[in-house]
Amino acid sequence: MTVHVLSVASEAYPLIKTGGLADVVGALPAALAPHDVRLTTMLPGYPAVMTALEKSQVLHRYKDLLGVEARLVVGAAGGLEIIALDAPALFTREGGPYSGPDGKDWPDNGLRFAALGRAAADVARATDLLHAHDWQAAMAAAYLRFGKEAATPSVVTIHNIAFPGYFPAQIFPALGLPPEAFTIEGVEYFGGVGFLKAGLQAADAITTVSPTYAEEIREPEFGMGLEGLITARRERVFGIVNGIDTAIWNPASDQNLAAVYDARTLRARSENRRAVEAAFGLTESDGPLFCVVSRLTEQKGMDILAAVTDALVAMGGRLAVLGSGDAKLEAAFTAAAARHPGRIGVHIGYDEALSHLLQGGADAIVIPSRFEPCGLTQLYGLRYGCVPVAARTGGLADTIVDANEAALASGVATGFLFDGVTEDGLSHALQRAITAFGHRERWRSLQKQGMKADFSWGRSGQRYAELYKRLLAPSAE
Ligand code: ADP
Repeated sequence: MTVHVLSVASEAYPLIKTGGLADVVGALPAALAPHDVRLTTMLPGYPAVMTALEKSQVLHRYKDLLGVEARLVVGAAGGLEIIALDAPALFTREGGPYSGPDGKDWPDNGLRFAALGRAAADVARATDLLHAHDWQAAMAAAYLRFGKEAATPSVVTIHNIAFPGYFPAQIFPALGLPPEAFTIEGVEYFGGVGFLKAGLQAADAITTVSPTYAEEIREPEFGMGLEGLITARRERVFGIVNGIDTAIWNPASDQNLAAVYDARTLRARSENRRAVEAAFGLTESDGPLFCVVSRLTEQKGMDILAAVTDALVAMGGRLAVLGSGDAKLEAAFTAAAARHPGRIGVHIGYDEALSHLLQGGADAIVIPSRFEPCGLTQLYGLRYGCVPVAARTGGLADTIVDANEAALASGVATGFLFDGVTEDGLSHALQRAITAFGHRERWRSLQKQGMKADFSWGRSGQRYAELYKRLLAPSAE
């Protein structure tokens, strides 16, 4: 019998994307389909979603959804089966999903995503199971729990525990929850309301996006105040590593590349390298070319990379940076490019096509994250023969095999891992990569081994399906 799951999130590729969350939410329906699971994806009705909807029908009209008028519109968009929460007062705006054109968070984000959760709980009652992603959707699980009818089981996935969805206590009356919900066992969190916490407390199962991160978030250093809850509920916490969409991310057919290639035709990458050099104003050279495709934030260790750019150039490396984020870090990379014309190139912004070209043309991708729930760019890098140089944390530790002597000798190495995100640690890892790059055969072996690894959704899709089915089994509480 087909299991019908409502997957709720604030972004989904190809409709709306600010990061890895969108890639995963967009890929899950196809990943679960072979396992007899039908996923309907529920999203806020942002303009990008509403204009993409085809064959749409109104499923329900709310006169008063937490104080606003709204409709649930069902349809198809971007290859996904979608339910959009069309609430113009909340979602019909110019700007990003969480912030306005000025880069500041929308002041009513609490209400916006509470409304998403409230409506999702209503929809979920007609399905077998609710799967909510991150704080923006997590309230759906809390609404189910505090609802009057028998609750549909719920899974909440943590894509990044560093975003708690915290709002001051004054928001509570607007949430339409019973007074007893405002307790430590409910939605209360450090005196206010924590949307992620509320969902994690209410969910029947919690997942996060790699086994290592599932363990790390039991510690204060990574748990961001939720380590106690995670530890208390550890029997219900599962780490399932993200897959990648191997049709969209396929160097043998990627239309964003100057030249397509596979593991046997790696030489064709040099044409992509020339295209990267041209796009980033770099001097043509066959020396090692590093790249970054990232939010420019401290989480991603971008302050550390910015601090070692001079050293990287002195070691003979070049760097192409694609990213946006903290103004301070954007400025630091722009200044590095000005100091090293032809050696460092920077593109501040978000550019999906350019991100593919970098993976297909650069030799290595630098990911010095202080924490990384799963990370997707290293998976794309591995698939594209763009060798990752990354911090040994979270999903990076789970998916990259460090090129130590033993791993190199046995041909299983796929990248470079370093401990502790410090300037010394990163410089040393970059130096190791540059040295390995000088040994052509060694480098080819690293590239080929990474390209051989299977990061498709096969196994992870199966694990989600097993989890859903376990929660629906008659013996599950
Ligand atoms: P996170 O979700 O924490 O930002 P991930 O590595 O899980 O990190 O996912 C990031 C996703 O966003 C990847 O698909 C990556 O290619 C993409 N991405 C990040 N920054 C940019 C950018 N400036 N331009 C294009 N794509 C980007």
